[in-house]
Amino acid sequence: MLRLNKSLLTAYLEDAFERGICPICHLRGETEYRSLDMFLYERVNDISARRDIARSKGFCVYHTYRMLEVGGFGSHAKIAMIYKSVVDALVDEVALLDEKRAAHVDMDANCPICRTVAQTERSYVEVLANMLRHESVRPKYAQSAGLCMRHYYQVYDLSKPGVRLFLKQDQSRRLASLSDDLGEFIRKSVIKTEPFGEEKDSWIRVIRLCAGTLKSATECPGGNG
Ligand SMILES: [Zn+2]
Ligand SMILES: [Zn+2]
Repeated sequence: MLRLNKSLLTAYLEDAFERGICPICHLRGETEYRSLDMFLYERVNDISARRDIARSKGFCVYHTYRMLEVGGFGSHAKIAMIYKSVVDALVDEVALLDEKRAAHVDMDANCPICRTVAQTERSYVEVLANMLRHESVRPKYAQSAGLCMRHYYQVYDLSKPGVRLFLKQDQSRRLASLSDDLGEFIRKSVIKTEPFGEEKDSWIRVIRLCAGTLKSATECPGGNG
């Protein structure tokens, strides 16, 4: 992903503005999905890839279970191939443990999907901070679902003061509007006599704002809405 040129990343970000969730969460989810899919369907027969996964002791907990979702039916033999390499490496590792010392092994530490996703995410944060220097991009961003708070702070920190001012004003507007919607949702949930309006999904929008969206918009129910 890092080899992709900036104009391509810019185009992906502009497309992600239309996806109804944080654009960087969307692209992060796409990268995660593609990396797992590629591992299962292209790299699984590659001996060096299996050696790498054995060295990293498989994926982290989250990506192990994402792999099951992404692979679906038909991936069981591929999972067995990946994990046979992992288990064979663990046979040697466990045999070599020195029982006089604690092992201090972190099974999640070297997940290759976490590494790829983090590198890609960083690239998109940098490119978005640069894109927002152009006044012509700002209305498109303002029309989008905006950034979740985690990505907001990452982009904010990498931006120049003029972009930070724009981001501050834009995020303040979004937060005030969400606060109003949550108030309205709470009020109508209590009185139960008025039909819900646009505030009806405010409870999920606030979750996405504070925690981000773990799956890409294409996999996420209501992600385009
Ligand atoms: Zn995000
Ligand atoms: Zn991971």
